[in-house]
Amino acid sequence: MTAYDYDLITLGAGSGGVRASRLAAQLGLKVAVIEESRVGGTCVMRGCVPKKLLVYGSRFADDLADSLGFGWSIEGADFDWARLVAAKNAELNRLETVYGRILRDSGVQVVEGRGTLADAHTVLVGERRLSAATILIATGGRPSLPKIPGIQFAVTSNEALDLMQLPERMVIVGGGYIAVEFAGIFNSLGVAVTLILRGDAILRGFDHDARMALGEEMAKRGVDIRAKTQVQSIERSKSGYDVHLDDDEVVEADLVLYATGRAPNSAGLGLERVGVAVNAHGAVEVDAYSRTNVENIWAVGDVTDRMNLTPVAINEAMAFVRTAFQGQPTAMDYDNVPSAVFSQPPLASVGLTEDAARKRHGAVDVYVSRFRPMRNTLAERDERTLMKLIVDPASDRVLGVHMVGPDGPEIMQGFAVALKCGATKAQFDATVGIHPTAAEELVTMRDKRL
Ligand code: NDP
Repeated sequence: MTAYDYDLITLGAGSGGVRASRLAAQLGLKVAVIEESRVGGTCVMRGCVPKKLLVYGSRFADDLADSLGFGWSIEGADFDWARLVAAKNAELNRLETVYGRILRDSGVQVVEGRGTLADAHTVLVGERRLSAATILIATGGRPSLPKIPGIQFAVTSNEALDLMQLPERMVIVGGGYIAVEFAGIFNSLGVAVTLILRGDAILRGFDHDARMALGEEMAKRGVDIRAKTQVQSIERSKSGYDVHLDDDEVVEADLVLYATGRAPNSAGLGLERVGVAVNAHGAVEVDAYSRTNVENIWAVGDVTDRMNLTPVAINEAMAFVRTAFQGQPTAMDYDNVPSAVFSQPPLASVGLTEDAARKRHGAVDVYVSRFRPMRNTLAERDERTLMKLIVDPASDRVLGVHMVGPDGPEIMQGFAVALKCGATKAQFDATVGIHPTAAEELVTMRDKRL
């Protein structure tokens, strides 16, 4: 028995915190997890899960439209936003219960409230003082908005998931994952969406061709993309809001959504009192094993601002448990982490972009295919899929796989395994395709881009 109340106290019951707490408890350790909001955290309650449910809901618009070309008639089809939001919320309630049960069944004590550090081994939750040998900070992040006049009129993804009714006109500011995904959802549901981004194209950091292809397809679907544009102010108007741009144009909207990045939730946790180092952006600084500069305090997930993706937080949590409690020092491997943007059409990728590959390897071979997927023929949908491979000519290893098109996220998971195994282009070529699919294109690309 230790001298503390617990072996481990975790701050935050999101994806990283839940996984670490559960695994530690399963090892027989005494664990408490402290959560001030809902168990499940951003991903389950305010992010990936509700967003994906809304993506599913909005995509029936495509299915219905496409069905005409396949002999269907759809007169009378109707959509009820309030019903979709209610169904989504019922599912979130179910998931919250499931997460709570998983924690309890693993023997983790869930403490409701806000936990702050009093010292390196003591956490305050209201009037309670809880002590632990080891503390894990897994408090995630929150939307970050620039300070411009009228920013108080804007909503974030948190509110956009729960709108009482659909707006007619919407301005979305930002060009990252959230902005692009929400533009797809609302555009498909008939909202007139203007996407305002300060960069020259959406999704900085992704492969150039994929960014361009997705931008083109979104524009064809009716999203009004304004690149190299900044919002100067937002004013209330008679009918909604006037969004003033730096090119002196004013865009009218019923709703303004800001998706300009997220900031680590590190303030007000007592970190300075205990001496836990944070960087200039507020991210908790950790080593490769997720240990902070204070020996018994560790941090995983978005609060560390390394690679802000749910499965990465979960893997960091598993590596933490192995390192801290199982005597197996394990560092998270950030190479070839696949990711997907649930835009419409979706974008998915694993490995290096062409630019990054050229920087790292010099000359690279590039294979690109742009084609109309079979379903779009009878559907008469003017939308093309993009597939792209980047290959190191010296080793023949495939360095990157990128795709914009239906089922991209589902397809990419398997190719991520191939890249993790160090697959070569010759091995891709030796793989027999599944016909007729879009995915077979990735194993049948023969001609290098000149
Ligand atoms: P991102 O970091 O992806 O994008 C932020 C966007 O906002 C960028 O286009 C950025 O422009 C722009 N921006 C930042 N500051 C300003 C400003 N002051 N004025 C105007 N534009 C600004 O953040 P998101 O909010 O979209 O998402 C947060 C994180 O959540 C992502 O990084 C991702 O890790 C995670 N996420 C993952 C998803 C998935 O896996 N499918 C889905 C949703 C979120 P610039 O490029 O010029 O810096």
